[in-house]
Amino acid sequence: MIYLDNAATTRMRPEVRAAMEPFLDGAYGNPSSIHGEGRKARRALEDARESVARHLDADPKEIVFTSGATEANNLVLTGIAEALRPRGNHLITTSIEHPSILEPAARLEKQGWRVTRLPVDADGLVDPADVARAITPQTSLMSIMSVNNEVGTLQPLELIRKAAPGVVIHCDAAQGFRTVALQAPSLDLITLSAHKIHGPKGIGALRIRKGLPIDPQLLGGGQEFERRAGTENVAAIVGLAAAMKLAFADRLLDLSRMERLRLKLKAGLERLGGARVFGPEQRRSPHILNIAFDGVDGEAAILSLDAAGVCISSGSACSSLSRQQSHVLKAMGVPADVSRSSLRFSLSSLTTEEDIDGALSATAAVIERLRKISTVER
Ligand code: PMP
Repeated sequence: MIYLDNAATTRMRPEVRAAMEPFLDGAYGNPSSIHGEGRKARRALEDARESVARHLDADPKEIVFTSGATEANNLVLTGIAEALRPRGNHLITTSIEHPSILEPAARLEKQGWRVTRLPVDADGLVDPADVARAITPQTSLMSIMSVNNEVGTLQPLELIRKAAPGVVIHCDAAQGFRTVALQAPSLDLITLSAHKIHGPKGIGALRIRKGLPIDPQLLGGGQEFERRAGTENVAAIVGLAAAMKLAFADRLLDLSRMERLRLKLKAGLERLGGARVFGPEQRRSPHILNIAFDGVDGEAAILSLDAAGVCISSGSACSSLSRQQSHVLKAMGVPADVSRSSLRFSLSSLTTEEDIDGALSATAAVIERLRKISTVER
Protein backbone atom coordinates (compact mmCIF):
# COMPACT_ATOMS: atom_id res chain seq x y z
CA MET A 1 0.00 0.00 0.00
CA ILE A 2 1.21 3.49 -0.84
CA TYR A 3 -0.21 6.02 1.57
CA LEU A 4 -0.28 9.60 0.31
CA ASP A 5 -3.21 10.91 2.36
CA ASN A 6 -1.20 12.34 5.23
CA ALA A 7 -3.17 15.59 5.38
CA ALA A 8 -6.14 13.42 6.42
CA THR A 9 -4.15 11.50 9.00
CA THR A 10 -0.73 9.93 9.49
CA ARG A 11 0.65 6.64 10.67
CA MET A 12 1.63 6.64 14.33
CA ARG A 13 5.40 6.47 14.75
CA PRO A 14 6.70 3.49 16.75
CA GLU A 15 8.47 5.85 19.17
CA VAL A 16 5.13 7.52 19.91
CA ARG A 17 3.42 4.21 20.55
CA ALA A 18 6.29 3.16 22.84
CA ALA A 19 5.95 6.39 24.83
CA MET A 20 2.21 5.82 25.25
CA GLU A 21 2.28 2.14 26.12
CA PRO A 22 3.09 2.43 29.86
CA PHE A 23 0.00 4.61 30.31
CA LEU A 24 -2.33 2.23 28.49
CA ASP A 25 -1.37 -0.70 30.61
CA GLY A 26 0.43 -0.30 33.95
CA ALA A 27 0.22 3.38 34.85
CA TYR A 28 -3.51 3.86 34.37
CA GLY A 29 -4.16 6.04 37.42
CA ASN A 30 -6.36 9.11 37.28
CA PRO A 31 -4.19 12.25 37.41
CA SER A 32 -6.65 13.77 39.88
CA SER A 33 -6.15 10.91 42.39
CA ILE A 34 -3.74 11.66 45.19
CA HIS A 35 -2.31 8.15 45.57
CA GLY A 36 0.97 7.07 43.98
CA GLU A 37 -0.62 5.80 40.75
CA GLY A 38 -2.50 9.06 40.34
CA ARG A 39 0.63 11.06 41.03
CA LYS A 40 2.51 9.04 38.38
CA ALA A 41 -0.14 9.91 35.82
CA ARG A 42 -0.14 13.56 36.95
CA ARG A 43 3.62 13.73 36.50
CA ALA A 44 3.38 12.32 32.96
CA LEU A 45 0.59 14.76 32.15
CA GLU A 46 2.49 17.78 33.42
CA ASP A 47 5.74 16.68 31.73
CA ALA A 48 3.83 16.43 28.45
CA ARG A 49 2.30 19.87 29.01
CA GLU A 50 5.73 21.35 29.63
CA SER A 51 7.14 19.72 26.51
CA VAL A 52 4.26 20.96 24.30
CA ALA A 53 4.59 24.47 25.79
CA ARG A 54 8.32 24.57 25.12
CA HIS A 55 7.79 24.00 21.38
CA LEU A 56 5.39 26.93 21.28
CA ASP A 57 7.49 29.21 23.42
CA ALA A 58 4.60 29.21 25.90
CA ASP A 59 4.09 28.76 29.60
CA PRO A 60 2.84 25.23 30.49
CA LYS A 61 -0.27 26.76 32.11
CA GLU A 62 -1.17 28.19 28.71
CA ILE A 63 -1.69 24.70 27.23
CA VAL A 64 -5.15 23.10 27.35
CA PHE A 65 -5.43 19.55 26.03
CA THR A 66 -8.50 18.86 23.88
CA SER A 67 -9.89 15.96 21.88
CA GLY A 68 -8.29 17.32 18.73
CA ALA A 69 -8.11 20.37 16.51
CA THR A 70 -11.87 20.43 15.98
CA GLU A 71 -12.52 20.88 19.69
CA ALA A 72 -9.72 23.43 20.05
CA ASN A 73 -11.08 25.48 17.12
CA ASN A 74 -14.61 25.26 18.50
CA LEU A 75 -13.39 26.35 21.92
CA VAL A 76 -11.89 29.50 20.39
CA LEU A 77 -15.10 30.46 18.59
CA THR A 78 -17.34 29.61 21.53
CA GLY A 79 -15.58 29.96 24.88
CA ILE A 80 -13.00 32.59 23.94
CA ALA A 81 -15.32 34.53 21.62
CA GLU A 82 -18.02 34.66 24.29
CA ALA A 83 -15.54 35.95 26.84
CA LEU A 84 -14.21 38.55 24.38
CA ARG A 85 -17.65 39.79 23.40
CA PRO A 86 -17.57 42.78 25.79
CA ARG A 87 -14.50 44.04 23.84
CA GLY A 88 -16.42 43.86 20.55
CA ASN A 89 -18.43 41.41 18.49
CA HIS A 90 -16.56 41.46 15.19
CA LEU A 91 -14.65 38.34 14.07
CA ILE A 92 -12.25 38.30 11.15
CA THR A 93 -11.50 34.95 9.53
CA THR A 94 -10.88 33.69 5.99
CA SER A 95 -13.02 31.98 3.39
CA ILE A 96 -10.69 28.94 3.28
CA GLU A 97 -10.66 27.85 6.93
CA HIS A 98 -11.44 24.30 8.01
CA PRO A 99 -15.15 23.64 8.68
CA SER A 100 -14.36 23.45 12.41
CA ILE A 101 -13.83 27.23 12.18
CA LEU A 102 -16.36 28.11 9.48
CA GLU A 103 -19.30 26.34 11.14
CA PRO A 104 -18.90 27.91 14.60
CA ALA A 105 -18.26 31.27 12.87
CA ALA A 106 -21.64 30.92 11.13
CA ARG A 107 -23.21 30.20 14.50
CA LEU A 108 -21.60 33.31 16.01
CA GLU A 109 -23.16 35.30 13.17
CA LYS A 110 -26.59 33.97 14.12
CA GLN A 111 -25.86 35.11 17.67
CA GLY A 112 -25.33 38.69 16.57
CA TRP A 113 -21.60 38.77 15.72
CA ARG A 114 -20.39 40.41 12.56
CA VAL A 115 -18.12 38.00 10.71
CA THR A 116 -15.70 39.06 7.96
CA ARG A 117 -14.50 36.18 5.79
CA LEU A 118 -11.45 37.51 4.02
CA PRO A 119 -11.04 36.61 0.35
CA VAL A 120 -7.91 34.88 -0.94
CA ASP A 121 -6.04 35.25 -4.22
CA ALA A 122 -5.64 32.54 -6.88
CA ASP A 123 -2.92 30.91 -4.74
CA GLY A 124 -5.08 30.86 -1.61
CA LEU A 125 -3.19 33.70 0.08
CA VAL A 126 -4.75 36.35 2.31
CA ASP A 127 -3.62 39.93 1.64
CA PRO A 128 -2.53 41.54 4.94
CA ALA A 129 -3.84 44.87 3.55
CA ASP A 130 -7.33 43.31 3.51
CA VAL A 131 -6.86 42.45 7.19
CA ALA A 132 -5.96 46.07 8.00
CA ARG A 133 -8.98 47.33 6.04
CA ALA A 134 -11.37 44.90 7.75
CA ILE A 135 -10.51 45.99 11.29
CA THR A 136 -13.04 48.10 13.17
CA PRO A 137 -13.14 49.23 16.82
CA GLN A 138 -15.45 46.23 17.37
CA THR A 139 -12.90 43.64 16.12
CA SER A 140 -11.98 41.47 19.08
CA LEU A 141 -10.88 38.20 17.47
CA MET A 142 -9.16 36.97 14.33
CA SER A 143 -8.84 33.32 13.27
CA ILE A 144 -6.48 32.48 10.40
CA MET A 145 -5.01 29.07 9.64
CA SER A 146 -1.30 28.60 9.08
CA VAL A 147 -1.32 25.89 6.37
CA ASN A 148 -4.42 25.15 4.34
CA ASN A 149 -5.36 21.47 4.43
CA GLU A 150 -6.48 21.26 0.80
CA VAL A 151 -3.83 23.16 -1.12
CA GLY A 152 -0.96 23.68 1.35
CA THR A 153 -0.89 27.51 1.17
CA LEU A 154 1.07 29.02 4.07
CA GLN A 155 -0.46 32.31 5.22
CA PRO A 156 1.80 35.32 5.92
CA LEU A 157 0.98 35.28 9.63
CA GLU A 158 3.75 37.69 10.66
CA LEU A 159 2.40 40.37 8.29
CA ILE A 160 -1.19 39.63 9.28
CA ARG A 161 -0.22 40.00 12.94
CA LYS A 162 1.42 43.36 12.18
CA ALA A 163 -1.67 44.50 10.27
CA ALA A 164 -3.86 43.88 13.30
CA PRO A 165 -2.04 45.02 16.42
CA GLY A 166 -4.07 44.57 19.56
CA VAL A 167 -6.56 42.11 18.08
CA VAL A 168 -6.51 38.64 19.66
CA ILE A 169 -5.23 36.29 16.96
CA HIS A 170 -5.91 32.55 16.70
CA CYS A 171 -4.14 30.21 14.33
CA ASP A 172 -5.34 26.74 13.36
CA ALA A 173 -1.98 25.00 12.99
CA ALA A 174 -3.38 21.47 12.61
CA GLN A 175 -1.52 21.21 9.27
CA GLY A 176 1.25 23.62 10.09
CA PHE A 177 2.96 22.58 13.29
CA ARG A 178 6.40 22.44 11.68
CA THR A 179 6.13 26.03 10.48
CA VAL A 180 3.97 27.61 13.17
CA ALA A 181 6.38 26.82 15.99
CA LEU A 182 8.53 29.70 14.78
CA GLN A 183 5.64 32.14 14.51
CA ALA A 184 4.20 31.11 17.86
CA PRO A 185 5.41 34.06 19.94
CA SER A 186 3.23 36.47 17.96
CA LEU A 187 0.09 34.30 18.18
CA ASP A 188 -2.32 34.39 21.12
CA LEU A 189 -4.15 31.13 20.42
CA ILE A 190 -2.77 28.08 18.58
CA THR A 191 -4.60 24.88 17.66
CA LEU A 192 -2.68 21.62 17.36
CA SER A 193 -3.65 18.05 16.48
CA ALA A 194 -1.52 14.96 17.15
CA HIS A 195 -2.72 12.68 14.36
CA LYS A 196 -1.40 14.97 11.63
CA ILE A 197 2.16 14.56 12.90
CA HIS A 198 2.37 10.79 13.52
CA GLY A 199 0.66 10.94 16.91
CA PRO A 200 -2.58 9.31 18.06
CA LYS A 201 -6.05 10.38 16.90
CA GLY A 202 -8.47 12.16 19.22
CA ILE A 203 -5.97 14.40 20.98
CA GLY A 204 -4.95 17.99 20.42
CA ALA A 205 -4.18 21.16 22.28
CA LEU A 206 -5.01 24.83 22.38
CA ARG A 207 -2.43 27.35 23.49
CA ILE A 208 -4.26 30.15 25.29
CA ARG A 209 -2.08 33.16 26.02
CA LYS A 210 -1.93 34.08 29.70
CA GLY A 211 -4.52 36.66 30.67
CA LEU A 212 -7.01 35.86 27.89
CA PRO A 213 -10.54 35.34 29.19
CA ILE A 214 -12.37 32.06 28.49
CA ASP A 215 -15.83 30.70 29.20
CA PRO A 216 -15.20 26.94 29.52
CA GLN A 217 -17.49 24.83 27.36
CA LEU A 218 -17.05 21.54 29.21
CA LEU A 219 -18.04 21.95 32.84
CA GLY A 220 -17.49 19.42 35.60
CA GLY A 221 -14.29 18.56 37.46
CA GLY A 222 -11.69 21.30 37.49
CA GLN A 223 -9.27 19.67 35.03
CA GLU A 224 -7.04 21.68 32.69
CA PHE A 225 -7.01 24.64 35.12
CA GLU A 226 -10.82 24.83 35.00
CA ARG A 227 -10.80 25.40 31.25
CA ARG A 228 -11.81 21.93 30.01
CA ALA A 229 -13.41 19.44 32.38
CA GLY A 230 -13.06 15.67 32.01
CA THR A 231 -10.52 13.05 33.03
CA GLU A 232 -7.43 13.62 30.94
CA ASN A 233 -6.47 11.08 28.26
CA VAL A 234 -2.99 10.65 29.68
CA ALA A 235 -1.67 8.10 27.16
CA ALA A 236 -2.82 10.19 24.19
CA ILE A 237 -1.42 13.38 25.74
CA VAL A 238 1.94 11.65 26.24
CA GLY A 239 1.66 10.55 22.58
CA LEU A 240 0.98 14.12 21.44
CA ALA A 241 4.05 15.40 23.29
CA ALA A 242 6.22 12.59 21.87
CA ALA A 243 4.98 13.24 18.32
CA MET A 244 5.64 16.97 18.65
CA LYS A 245 9.13 16.38 19.96
CA LEU A 246 9.98 14.12 17.01
CA ALA A 247 8.36 16.43 14.46
CA PHE A 248 10.22 19.42 15.84
CA ALA A 249 13.60 17.70 16.11
CA ASP A 250 13.50 16.54 12.48
CA ARG A 251 11.74 19.66 11.22
CA LEU A 252 14.25 21.09 8.76
CA LEU A 253 15.29 17.74 7.36
CA ASP A 254 11.65 16.63 6.99
CA LEU A 255 10.64 19.86 5.28
CA SER A 256 13.43 19.67 2.72
CA ARG A 257 12.91 15.94 2.09
CA MET A 258 9.18 16.41 1.62
CA GLU A 259 9.78 19.37 -0.71
CA ARG A 260 12.13 17.31 -2.86
CA LEU A 261 9.63 14.45 -3.05
CA ARG A 262 6.70 16.80 -3.72
CA LEU A 263 8.58 18.44 -6.59
CA LYS A 264 9.41 15.04 -8.06
CA LEU A 265 5.76 13.99 -7.80
CA LYS A 266 4.58 17.28 -9.28
CA ALA A 267 7.01 17.13 -12.23
CA GLY A 268 6.06 13.50 -12.94
CA LEU A 269 2.34 14.22 -12.80
CA GLU A 270 2.66 17.33 -14.98
CA ARG A 271 4.34 15.19 -17.64
CA LEU A 272 0.99 13.38 -18.04
CA GLY A 273 -0.31 16.57 -19.70
CA GLY A 274 -3.46 18.62 -19.13
CA ALA A 275 -2.62 19.09 -15.46
CA ARG A 276 -3.25 22.11 -13.26
CA VAL A 277 -1.59 22.51 -9.86
CA PHE A 278 -3.27 24.59 -7.15
CA GLY A 279 -1.53 26.62 -4.48
CA PRO A 280 1.61 28.75 -4.55
CA GLU A 281 5.12 27.52 -5.31
CA GLN A 282 6.80 29.58 -2.60
CA ARG A 283 4.57 30.27 0.40
CA ARG A 284 3.51 26.70 1.01
CA SER A 285 3.92 23.62 3.13
CA PRO A 286 5.75 20.92 1.20
CA HIS A 287 3.44 18.13 2.34
CA ILE A 288 0.47 18.84 0.08
CA LEU A 289 0.13 18.65 -3.71
CA ASN A 290 -3.29 19.48 -5.16
CA ILE A 291 -3.59 18.81 -8.89
CA ALA A 292 -6.39 18.44 -11.43
CA PHE A 293 -6.27 16.55 -14.73
CA ASP A 294 -8.38 17.67 -17.68
CA GLY A 295 -11.16 15.26 -18.56
CA VAL A 296 -10.74 13.14 -15.42
CA ASP A 297 -13.34 12.85 -12.67
CA GLY A 298 -11.53 13.16 -9.33
CA GLU A 299 -13.64 10.59 -7.53
CA ALA A 300 -13.18 8.02 -10.31
CA ALA A 301 -9.41 8.59 -10.15
CA ILE A 302 -9.33 8.18 -6.36
CA LEU A 303 -11.28 4.92 -6.50
CA SER A 304 -9.09 3.57 -9.33
CA LEU A 305 -5.94 4.51 -7.42
CA ASP A 306 -7.36 2.85 -4.32
CA ALA A 307 -7.85 -0.34 -6.33
CA ALA A 308 -4.20 -0.03 -7.39
CA GLY A 309 -3.14 0.29 -3.75
CA VAL A 310 -2.58 4.06 -3.61
CA CYS A 311 -4.47 6.13 -1.01
CA ILE A 312 -5.11 9.79 -1.81
CA SER A 313 -8.01 12.24 -1.31
CA SER A 314 -9.92 14.83 -3.21
CA GLY A 315 -9.78 18.28 -1.61
CA SER A 316 -10.32 17.75 2.09
CA ALA A 317 -10.96 14.31 3.54
CA CYS A 318 -13.37 15.94 5.95
CA SER A 319 -15.69 17.01 3.13
CA SER A 320 -15.02 14.29 0.60
CA LEU A 321 -18.17 12.44 1.63
CA SER A 322 -20.17 15.22 0.01
CA ARG A 323 -19.91 16.01 -3.67
CA GLN A 324 -20.06 19.74 -3.03
CA GLN A 325 -17.41 21.89 -4.64
CA SER A 326 -14.44 22.51 -2.38
CA HIS A 327 -14.97 25.88 -0.68
CA VAL A 328 -11.19 26.43 -0.80
CA LEU A 329 -10.82 25.99 -4.57
CA LYS A 330 -13.99 28.04 -5.09
CA ALA A 331 -12.52 30.90 -3.04
CA MET A 332 -9.36 30.66 -5.20
CA GLY A 333 -11.52 31.21 -8.29
CA VAL A 334 -11.32 27.64 -9.59
CA PRO A 335 -14.39 26.71 -11.69
CA ALA A 336 -16.58 23.92 -10.27
CA ASP A 337 -15.85 21.46 -13.11
CA VAL A 338 -12.07 21.84 -12.69
CA SER A 339 -12.45 21.52 -8.94
CA ARG A 340 -14.23 18.17 -9.40
CA SER A 341 -11.09 16.83 -11.08
CA SER A 342 -8.82 17.81 -8.21
CA LEU A 343 -6.71 15.24 -6.42
CA ARG A 344 -4.81 15.79 -3.17
CA PHE A 345 -1.57 13.87 -2.67
CA SER A 346 -0.14 14.48 0.80
CA LEU A 347 3.23 13.42 2.16
CA SER A 348 4.67 12.89 5.61
CA SER A 349 8.04 12.39 7.26
CA LEU A 350 7.64 8.68 6.54
CA THR A 351 7.01 9.03 2.78
CA THR A 352 9.73 7.36 0.72
CA GLU A 353 11.15 7.79 -2.77
CA GLU A 354 9.60 4.39 -3.64
CA ASP A 355 6.16 5.67 -2.56
CA ILE A 356 6.50 8.56 -5.01
CA ASP A 357 7.73 6.30 -7.85
CA GLY A 358 4.90 3.84 -7.22
CA ALA A 359 2.28 6.60 -7.04
CA LEU A 360 3.56 8.11 -10.27
CA SER A 361 3.32 4.94 -12.30
CA ALA A 362 -0.11 4.03 -10.84
CA THR A 363 -1.45 7.54 -11.49
CA ALA A 364 -0.14 7.55 -15.07
CA ALA A 365 -2.00 4.30 -15.78
CA VAL A 366 -5.22 5.50 -14.10
CA ILE A 367 -5.27 8.89 -15.85
CA GLU A 368 -4.61 7.31 -19.23
CA ARG A 369 -7.43 4.79 -18.76
CA LEU A 370 -9.94 7.33 -17.46
CA ARG A 371 -9.16 9.71 -20.30
CA LYS A 372 -9.74 6.95 -22.83
CA ILE A 373 -13.10 6.13 -21.25
CA SER A 374 -14.18 9.77 -21.19
CA THR A 375 -13.26 10.16 -24.90
CA VAL A 376 -15.28 7.06 -25.80
CA GLU A 377 -18.25 8.35 -23.74
CA ARG A 378 -18.14 11.68 -25.52
N1 PMP B 1 -8.06 22.07 11.03
C1 PMP B 1 -7.41 21.65 9.94
C2 PMP B 1 -6.66 22.63 9.11
C3 PMP B 1 -7.41 20.29 9.60
O1 PMP B 1 -6.77 19.87 8.51
C4 PMP B 1 -8.13 19.38 10.43
C5 PMP B 1 -8.18 17.91 10.07
N2 PMP B 1 -8.75 17.67 8.80
C6 PMP B 1 -8.79 19.88 11.55
C7 PMP B 1 -8.71 21.23 11.82
C8 PMP B 1 -9.53 18.96 12.48
O2 PMP B 1 -8.62 18.18 13.19
P1 PMP B 1 -9.02 16.99 14.16
O3 PMP B 1 -9.17 15.80 13.27
O4 PMP B 1 -7.87 16.85 15.10
O5 PMP B 1 -10.28 17.37 14.85
